Amino acid sequence: MSLLQLAASGEPLKVHPLGSQTLDDDDVVLAKQWLKQPEQWYEKDIVAQYEETFARWNGSQYAFAFASGREALSACLAALHLEPGDEVVLPGYTCVVVPNALVFAGLNPVYADIELDTFGPSAESVFECMTARTKAVLVHHLYGLVSRDYEEITRECRKRGIPVIEDCAQATGAELHGRKVGLLGDVAFYSSEQSKVFNTIQGGVAVTENAALASVLAQIQSKAPWPNRSYVNGLLHQIIRNYYRFKHPRRLWRGSFAELLHGGHRVISTTNADERGEQPLHYGRSLAAPQAALGLNQLSKINDYNQQRRDTAARWEKWCLKRGYTPPLVTPGSLPVYLRYPFLAEPAVKADPSWSKKELGVELGVWFVSQLHPAKNRPVPGCPNAETAVARCVNFPTLMS
Ligand SMILES: *Cc1c(COP(=O)(O)O)cnc(C)c1O
Repeated sequence: MSLLQLAASGEPLKVHPLGSQTLDDDDVVLAKQWLKQPEQWYEKDIVAQYEETFARWNGSQYAFAFASGREALSACLAALHLEPGDEVVLPGYTCVVVPNALVFAGLNPVYADIELDTFGPSAESVFECMTARTKAVLVHHLYGLVSRDYEEITRECRKRGIPVIEDCAQATGAELHGRKVGLLGDVAFYSSEQSKVFNTIQGGVAVTENAALASVLAQIQSKAPWPNRSYVNGLLHQIIRNYYRFKHPRRLWRGSFAELLHGGHRVISTTNADERGEQPLHYGRSLAAPQAALGLNQLSKINDYNQQRRDTAARWEKWCLKRGYTPPLVTPGSLPVYLRYPFLAEPAVKADPSWSKKELGVELGVWFVSQLHPAKNRPVPGCPNAETAVARCVNFPTLMS
């Protein structure tokens, strides 16, 4: 049965909430095993193995694992030797932790507008924002789509000698002309935060094709502190909790039991302090061994999950067309991974997303709720398309059974 038929027949779709979508019982086995061997949490071998595997899978020369995508971004900024006061052009529609990482490094964010086909930075706006003070440009790939102006921006920046940073946090595995995103720029980062394409609860990878940048990244990483034990412990419990609460076939009764056993260790990705732009106490950390082990397991399944996401997206595309909504653009030559299926709806549809649950049985996503998501107190003027996306961009889940 198709998704639409299922929804129409009143049979509830099984949609697994963010945080559990790509978790399976094999991830739980790993988490339980690592909880029993805390003496191995800070062993570098498995982290190196994860980096090698990620690099090979991604088609990258070099990969370095960090405790989160944002910390991987901070390492990228340091590797580029940007100086305090340098300007970095980035989209005015992003996660607040992205400009935060720039500000922590003393850099000045300059916000370019986005286009509304793929929600990427608009080449026209990026070029308008570039001045003699611009020392880097950040492009992103949101919702698992490949940004429309990706090639144009990277080509022009290369011509001008301006390094490009790629934010691939939502697009791990997406491709353009048969190559993964993250390879056209100078440095790129990915996220395995629990709401992203693959899941180590928290985690990030920085990649580069450039040997000189790689040697700086290697140095930064070798000095990066490990995340502390209570944090690693919390992550492992969260894997187990999320699986049993949200993904296990009999989660209705297993879930509350798991909540009792593992619910005391909640990990929050973006805190109020992040929203205010304050640097966390623990920042710039490496990835711990258990997360690398989980990352390896997740990588062994990521292609299958991404294919499932594409299959679901094809159904949402039909739904959009039938309802008179414009589907997102598949940039010519690209293979998206559809972390979510975004489209522009009327502001009222976004303001009260409850219709989706009633009509389709799925929770409508409202990323982004502000230009520097989820911070609402940090306005970014001069980006009319980004404002439109905040008012109108909603998204459907792409992993369900
Ligand atoms: C999640 C996200 C990040 C940050 O990744 P973390 O692993 O949560 O630090 C950066 N950029 C975008 C677009 C994201 O969605």
